[in-house]
Amino acid sequence: MTDFTIQKHADGVAIITWDTQGKSMNVMNAQGFLDLEALIDDALADDAVKGVILTSGKPGSFAGGMDLNIIAKMRDDAGDNPAKGLFDGVMGMHAILRKIERAGMDPKTNKGGKPIAAALPGTALGIGLEIPLACHRIFAADNPSAKIGLPEIMVGIFPGAGGTTRLVRKLGAMAASPLLLEGKLNDPKKAKAAGVVDEVVPADHLIEKAREWVLSNPEIVKPWDDKGYKMPGGAPYHPAGFMTFVGASAMVNGKTQGAFPAAKALLSAVYEGALVPFDTALKIEARWFVNVLMNPSSSAMIRSLFINKEALEKGANRPDVPDQRVKKVGVMGAGMMGAGIALVSAMAGMQVVLIDQKQEAADKGKSYTADFMDQGIKRGKATAEKKAATLDLITATTDYAALKGCDLIIEAVFEDPAVKAAVTKEVLKVVGEDCIFATNTSTLPISELAKASDNAENFIGIHFFSPVEKMMLVEIIKGQKTGPRAVAKALDYVRQIRKTPIVVNDARFFYCNRCIIPYINEGLRMVAEGVVPALIDNAARQLGFPVGPLQLVDETSIDLGAKIARATKAAMGDAYPDAAVDEVIFYMEGEGRLGRKSKAGFFDYDDKGKRLGYWPGLAAQYPRAAEQPDLHEVQQRLMFAQVLEAVRALEEGVLEDIREGDVGAILAWGFAPWSGGPFAWLDIIGTPYAAERCDQLAEQFGPRFATPKLLREMADKTQSFYGRFGGQAAAA
Ligand code: NAD
Repeated sequence: MTDFTIQKHADGVAIITWDTQGKSMNVMNAQGFLDLEALIDDALADDAVKGVILTSGKPGSFAGGMDLNIIAKMRDDAGDNPAKGLFDGVMGMHAILRKIERAGMDPKTNKGGKPIAAALPGTALGIGLEIPLACHRIFAADNPSAKIGLPEIMVGIFPGAGGTTRLVRKLGAMAASPLLLEGKLNDPKKAKAAGVVDEVVPADHLIEKAREWVLSNPEIVKPWDDKGYKMPGGAPYHPAGFMTFVGASAMVNGKTQGAFPAAKALLSAVYEGALVPFDTALKIEARWFVNVLMNPSSSAMIRSLFINKEALEKGANRPDVPDQRVKKVGVMGAGMMGAGIALVSAMAGMQVVLIDQKQEAADKGKSYTADFMDQGIKRGKATAEKKAATLDLITATTDYAALKGCDLIIEAVFEDPAVKAAVTKEVLKVVGEDCIFATNTSTLPISELAKASDNAENFIGIHFFSPVEKMMLVEIIKGQKTGPRAVAKALDYVRQIRKTPIVVNDARFFYCNRCIIPYINEGLRMVAEGVVPALIDNAARQLGFPVGPLQLVDETSIDLGAKIARATKAAMGDAYPDAAVDEVIFYMEGEGRLGRKSKAGFFDYDDKGKRLGYWPGLAAQYPRAAEQPDLHEVQQRLMFAQVLEAVRALEEGVLEDIREGDVGAILAWGFAPWSGGPFAWLDIIGTPYAAERCDQLAEQFGPRFATPKLLREMADKTQSFYGRFGGQAAAA
């Protein structure tokens, strides 16, 4: 069986159907390209065939993209000259798509050729849109849940099978920019409005409409293959085009701070490609694509954000326990987190019981879902029926008896062990023995909280990030006695709500907060040293962090920082290492500058909470040092502060899988995505250099940078993290 099959009909229409074996959505692999080419050759050579429809055998989707392992294979197969292997491989893909586009036309006269229509039943992503763009007309079924677009940039590459060159020539650089640079996906109607697809037709008439067109003897020469083609919006030296290109450069650098090689390379491919004929532009696109693929950042991003993220979502670390999908979930506490947890659970179709101390509080928590759905309706993403159905699933109450029949409880009441213990005991009186009890605590040890239950095997941490509906990561924490069924339950639940899980062991701050806190703290230490605040935050932003440490602490609030500092100090006693940090935090707290929520923190804010600029008053307490550190040093301090914590978490067994450490870091706190995560970054810079640099930083700034034993040992052996711990998570 191959993934592509052809059916030749009596009316002269050949239908090529893509149906990847063993997958719910089509994915292009190396053999798939060859099979598609063979069938196109066959159709073009067969006189009885007048035209072709390329469609999918999967209901509701055309294709999800390319199996990015192809790229790894091209590189590996090329041995000593991976760039050449990649370039030849990419040009091979171009040749197949160009063959579809030219469809047997005479190269000089543009005469002859057969029309080839793409008929998309639904979602068409990446190569799943690049192939249709090479066809002569794109028909999309009117399927509002379908997503159409080129999301490659999200994993650190860009569309390299001609998609970049074709989209820019079809829409113009300006209109193509958000689709290419932001990986923006559209439903079919919006894709039509954007000019990406040519027709949206009722799903049950998809093939019929494509067939009518194929048989209508249509014009099939692409505008860019026609004489006198002009790029919509103007090429770079056209006055209008000039403005676009100048603006785009500034915009890309403003947004990415130059930290993402793919965005820059994409823009170069677009600009340089716009100056030359189409086939040369394809070659330029291929060269820039290879340039990006040869950058270790792109392999690291593909590995973390595509391969490993997907593996974790599919349950790479799930214990071998029967299906634990959740039917009825009880959410304790209808505050900020509980309301969000109820929302995502109901959206996934689960029955939800949302409990708070007072009926008004429970109702308020439920109204969060109503507001969210209203916004969705306004933006055309939800309907009144969907809203009603989702709200119907949520019972907001104070009555614990409603929890009967729940197979999972997620507790999100106040961060107070006594309150949590009391709630746990009350809940366990009502629910059955099989029910798994999860806590959303961010700071309290799971094993301690589990003592409130007489069945610690069924007790686990499910740690969400705020806002729940937006943040994609969920950190699952095993207490000392947590059993495999509880882990499987948590993983199956996270899969139902379509988020990405990591599973870690129980230790102070688990994994994510453990690494975020040193990031913030290093920024605060620099404040105490007199480093200019803008240098601290901008250094982080230029590393690709969404917000710098000082802005982050303003967002999460200074008093929360102070509370965590006091609790940590109480727990650690003399071993507490962060006095310098506390000085800054307690000073800000004393000044009443609690962050954005008090409209005063490291920043000044206007009445609406908009940042106005750094608070000039800070310099009175922490005068600017006469000599400021260089950018690179600030960046290395911020990076190593987090990365060493990740290494220690691995060393101590809090993390069991470096894939989780990398994926978790990017999704939870936006750790420099271009690096692929903390471990991938250490592999990029090399463990010997990392250890050497830590030694220097430790000497200069203190023992928090001391090289962990594991890193020292790996440096001595010149080992890489993915080489030593990657296992099946081999580099892309
Ligand atoms: P919150 O104060 O907004 O909500 C807590 C809710 O619990 C309140 O509505 C309160 O009335 C209710 N509650 C208190 N005692 C109760 C009881 N005995 N029975 C029923 N309901 C009760 O707090 P939050 O920010 O939603 O945090 C809740 C939990 O989630 C905490 O453990 C916190 O550490 C954790 N958490 C918070 C965040 C965050 O960013 N806010 C992130 C991850 C985890």
